[in-house]
Amino acid sequence: MHFILRLLFVLGLGALSVACAPRVVTPPPVEVPPPVIAPQSCYDALTQLGAKFEPRQSMPRNAQGCFIDEPVMLEQATIPLSRPALMTCPLAQALAAFERDVVQPAARRHFNRPVAQIVHYGAYVCRAQTGRNDRLSEHGMGRAFDIGGFELAGNIRISVKDHWRERGPRGAFLREVAQGACRHFNMVLTPKTDAAHHDHLHLDIGRWARCDA
Ligand SMILES: [Zn+2]
Repeated sequence: MHFILRLLFVLGLGALSVACAPRVVTPPPVEVPPPVIAPQSCYDALTQLGAKFEPRQSMPRNAQGCFIDEPVMLEQATIPLSRPALMTCPLAQALAAFERDVVQPAARRHFNRPVAQIVHYGAYVCRAQTGRNDRLSEHGMGRAFDIGGFELAGNIRISVKDHWRERGPRGAFLREVAQGACRHFNMVLTPKTDAAHHDHLHLDIGRWARCDA
């Protein structure tokens, strides 16, 4: 009897929450444990992947709470970056695997040619999360990377800002790349997330899991 009453109560609550829910329901982020990788093995793995980078000094936690452990100044993981970016070695490693397994196959499928450059808006930046001043962004620990677009051989330019919603191959490529990114990064934010992400894909290996592809 108790069980049935409890079931009815739960069902009632469920119906109530469905009735009150906003039309777009975004699942709350899920906390995931940080990766544990010894720096030297990460540098070795990066080199083996064909990356171009310089190891840099770790930066201790500053007054804003930002820090970066065992960073690299990355010129390319496997695809040249529009400018070098400072990030943790595990993020560079995730980027290399993502390029190899997701970005290049999608480029070949949709355009029959490889991506020649990744246009980005930075990795390490000491700041709070967009819209929340109380929580440090994963950028503040060098664990996040913002991709604005891709340049393919033959001067084909694809930008998140202009092509995310396009119905042609550029839009299909970007949406497929974002979906594939969810297999390589813990959090993937896109123009679907909010206005702050209208022009880039935010990819991070931080503490929270979310896939807005
Ligand atoms: Zn970002």
